[in-house]
Amino acid sequence: MPATPAWPPRSAPRLFVPGPLEEGGQIALEGQQAHYLGKVMRVGPGDAVIACDDATGEWACEVISAGKLDVVLSVRMKLREREDVPDFVLCAALLKKPNFDLVLEKATELGVAAVQPVVTRRCVADKLNPERALTIVTEAAEQCARTALPRVEEPARLDALLRDWPEDRALFFADEQGGAPAAATFAAHKGPAALLVGPEGGFDDTERDLVRAHPQARAITLGPRILRAETACISAIGLWMAMSGDWT
Ligand code: SAM
Repeated sequence: MPATPAWPPRSAPRLFVPGPLEEGGQIALEGQQAHYLGKVMRVGPGDAVIACDDATGEWACEVISAGKLDVVLSVRMKLREREDVPDFVLCAALLKKPNFDLVLEKATELGVAAVQPVVTRRCVADKLNPERALTIVTEAAEQCARTALPRVEEPARLDALLRDWPEDRALFFADEQGGAPAAATFAAHKGPAALLVGPEGGFDDTERDLVRAHPQARAITLGPRILRAETACISAIGLWMAMSGDWT
């Protein structure tokens, strides 16, 4: 007797949709999401779609209709609560667009709670398009099966960020000029934390002194080589997740 295939199938498309979702409710999708489900994933009545609302969690839905311009889903059952990601914030200096897009995508996949773009003196970019950033983190969350979207904060100047820094959050400062070994430092820390990574041109000496003088700041090294900013972000977040995050 062949086994009944699991429902919803793991291959079911996954989308973040406006909430709150509830059992028995209906979701009418239009525009890009309807195109993605109808034309790209070719869903039809009876097919499964996994929907998240970044609040109540993850739900299995059934396609009721799939028309040219819209797809209607019926919410069938809750699969998971919204996850509690580690309280870890990436404070990344703004980079050229493709590199910062990569940082947003990878930081989401790796599990950060938020991304705080930082404007420093050597930044080549000083603005971030919030809609574009939200699209990038949402697509990355859909792809890696996150049920909680990371916050993407408004860009902040370094001095303002440090001035308003919360006393209960450690600030690990990735300094290419040296610092404490990252793994041991991360492992020893319990509680809210953040990582600060500089731009392509690095921090200037005044900024470095300002950060190092901050009571919550701890300089860490990511090894003897000078990493590209995006590499520093991705490798340090991975290390944090392994030492103190949810990879344990
Ligand atoms: N222009 C700088 C230089 O040549 O010294 C390099 C800046 S690096 C491309 C960008 C950022 O990545 C740095 O500001 C730092 O935050 C981080 N980074 C790169 N390599 C690092 C390392 N070995 N240890 C700690 N942080 C590092």
